[in-house]
Amino acid sequence: MILLALDDSSTLGLLQRALRAVDHEVVIAHSQAGMLEALDESSPALLVIGQQFDGENGVQIAERQLERFPTLPILLFAQQDAPDLARTALEAGLSGYLCPPLRTDDIVHTARRSLSRARYLGDWIRREVRQTTSSLERRAQISESERGRLASIFASIEDGVIVLDDHKKLILINRVAREAFGLDGVDPTGHPIDEVIAHNDLRELLAKSGEGAVKYYELNFDDGRVFNAQHTPIPEIGSAITIQDITYLKRLDQMKNDFVHTVSHDLRSPLTAVLGYAELVERVGPLTEQQHEFVRRIQSSVQNITALVNELLDLGRLEAGFDSRRESVQLESIVTYSLGQFDPLIKEKQLRLNQEVAPNMPALRANPIRIRQMIDNLVGNSVKYTPVGGSITVSVRSEDNQIIFEVRDSGPGIPRDEQLRIFEKFYRATNVAGTKGSGLGLSIVKSIVDSYHGRVWVESDVNQGAAFFLVLPAFEPKEA
Ligand code: ADP
Repeated sequence: MILLALDDSSTLGLLQRALRAVDHEVVIAHSQAGMLEALDESSPALLVIGQQFDGENGVQIAERQLERFPTLPILLFAQQDAPDLARTALEAGLSGYLCPPLRTDDIVHTARRSLSRARYLGDWIRREVRQTTSSLERRAQISESERGRLASIFASIEDGVIVLDDHKKLILINRVAREAFGLDGVDPTGHPIDEVIAHNDLRELLAKSGEGAVKYYELNFDDGRVFNAQHTPIPEIGSAITIQDITYLKRLDQMKNDFVHTVSHDLRSPLTAVLGYAELVERVGPLTEQQHEFVRRIQSSVQNITALVNELLDLGRLEAGFDSRRESVQLESIVTYSLGQFDPLIKEKQLRLNQEVAPNMPALRANPIRIRQMIDNLVGNSVKYTPVGGSITVSVRSEDNQIIFEVRDSGPGIPRDEQLRIFEKFYRATNVAGTKGSGLGLSIVKSIVDSYHGRVWVESDVNQGAAFFLVLPAFEPKEA
């Protein structure tokens, strides 16, 4: 059907006759309202519009209709041939242009051309749509099967996996993680993780996660289970937490500790005997210079082993909670005493030492020997690891009923991913190879600080020095 939107004139009659003569159905609209109604209801195959129609510019009317029906062919009928008008019409997206003198042949020919071009365009669009649809369907099938595969991998891996969005809402949580946190039978996805899982260690891990990836973090459960957790940021998604049950490793660790403790204990007596007899050797008769040297070496080695054994025993005692001595301790005097002990080494290594102790510090209630041990270990490490000519700052201050002790040095620093591990027994970080040590000092510090309900941590970067912080409550908290 062809729709003629032209004001009454002889041209209208001519067009109507010419088109009907070649069997086109023709409908005439006398107003814009009539034209809109015919467009909506009869979907004409071609619209012919006058240069001026129903008091408005025909090109503008056509433009509006093209926005609604982009594939509708529209011919503009002009009162007279005007190249400018023709250009405007083509620019507006109309498909052709008619003007007097009108010959029947021209009318029929122009209408046919527009119709066949529109048909061709329609066919092409339909083909394209069909192709795109089938390719989308194929892709949807692939991604559906991929999703199925991923879902079954995700459900069956033995690690617990939790995926969070940027707002810490649960996107995914697999079977193992649900079981670990006792979430059977509920679907927590879409909820903020801290509303769904109330677990202190997990909350602390999430609080820490703002600093980037976390590789080792222990989650302790009331029933004795222990999980190791990692937190990994995922760009444009959020983050993932993976957890592995390490309860059996913890048990092994405990067995190893018990074993080490027993062996250390049993080693002490023979070591004391070796040391005693080594000293006696010198007294019972004259020794050659070489024999003297050998005895000296025996003594020094036995002293090293004895120191190690004592450290191990100490750790065992601390872990078992055998330390109930509490008295008022002034940190300031302990710090001064401890630094005095390292004085010769500090001078030898030409280290610059700054000591900043705030006045009127509150006292601690603690075992002074243990506090001294912590400070000795932290200051000792800084003196040991800071190269010649470096600097060390030791400061003590109090804040909100807490005493903060800080040792900052210009030494080699500690790689970030090892900063939690250096507090483990025997762990020595990779960038201090070449310097001797047992790897026990910081685990002793950690055990002591834990027994006082305090905290110890390090802030450091490789080659940027290290700052160890020790925070202790100024008053001993009441036992729960
Ligand atoms: P040790 O010093 O006997 O190796 P520690 O338990 O005292 O054992 O320390 C553990 C590890 O922590 C050290 O081996 C070292 O890698 C790292 N570390 C401790 N203190 C420092 C420091 N001030 N600067 C750089 N690394 C340090």
